[in-house]
Amino acid sequence: MKTIAVLTSGGDAPGMNAAIRAVVRTAIYHGVDVLGIKRGFNGLIRGEIEELEVSSVSDILQRGGTILRTARCEEFKTDKGLKKALNVVKIFGIDGIVVIGGDGSFRGAKDLSELGVPTIAIPGTIDNDIACTDFSIGFDTAVNTVIDAINKIRDTATSHERANIIEVMGRHSGDIALYAGLAGGAESIIVPEMGFDIDAVCKKLIKGKNRGKLHSIIILAEGVGGSLELGKQIQQKTGIETRATILGHIQRGGSPTARDRILASVMGARAVELLISGAGNRVIGIINNELKDFDIQEALNMEKSFDTHMYKLAGILSI
Ligand code: ADP
Repeated sequence: MKTIAVLTSGGDAPGMNAAIRAVVRTAIYHGVDVLGIKRGFNGLIRGEIEELEVSSVSDILQRGGTILRTARCEEFKTDKGLKKALNVVKIFGIDGIVVIGGDGSFRGAKDLSELGVPTIAIPGTIDNDIACTDFSIGFDTAVNTVIDAINKIRDTATSHERANIIEVMGRHSGDIALYAGLAGGAESIIVPEMGFDIDAVCKKLIKGKNRGKLHSIIILAEGVGGSLELGKQIQQKTGIETRATILGHIQRGGSPTARDRILASVMGARAVELLISGAGNRVIGIINNELKDFDIQEALNMEKSFDTHMYKLAGILSI
């Protein structure tokens, strides 16, 4: 293993830079050269590749986004695109690749491995929708961003004695809603993994109001959607003035939390160690605080479980 390359692909997530830094520095520590591929698999197809030195990754640990940029690349899903990528791999003398991204990117990583390019995938997505890991890079930062937003919205909700629905990201996963809802003391958490009954939500709001509560926060996951409409329905049913806020891309940015920086650092280092040890076609995960790695296809076949205990607890604590 003389030269490895690293790319970020799909949706960005805070902590991707910390992972890039860990890949670069671990490789250099072991005497391996590192190349940075720009704009995901697009850059691999087009040869947008540059050498990365120790100092290329200075001052990025604390930055959100990705210095390598990220993109989606339809061409990479085709045989022609893959062939082009393989050519570039040969021209640049790349012996192994680290792909940081979500499950879409993992499929690309698997294709590369199957064509003889050892590739290791690192889960980087705020959605926490990767089954083979308890946590993906960026999730903790996104949850903290949502909590900050809940605190601010609660101030104004209290002043006006309103209810507020906060719609958070996560694609099909309710994890951001669940974690932020529990940590932020939301009255109701609505996620795609669990059904919900609007009348039960309304009952809780009315009970709270009668008890003297000045505000209510309902966290709604993107996978359920329709927060504006739901706000109108709740206002109609309860008579409590209700606002809806869709947090949007603010959740994808910001300086990564310590937890995400540490996760990114250990995963980035492990990816390089795996390549050096001769492994390929693996995805890294953290389960019960232990770093593990899995065959990419096996990882893609796993089903993400939703923490119903935590969901239930959030309900109990917000009675
Ligand atoms: P994420 O990695 O965040 O899940 P996407 O699903 O958009 O994001 O995937 C990112 C990129 O990974 C795609 O634009 C494409 O280049 C590559 N990719 C996705 N699915 C496949 C696939 N089935 N085969 C090869 N490459 C894929």
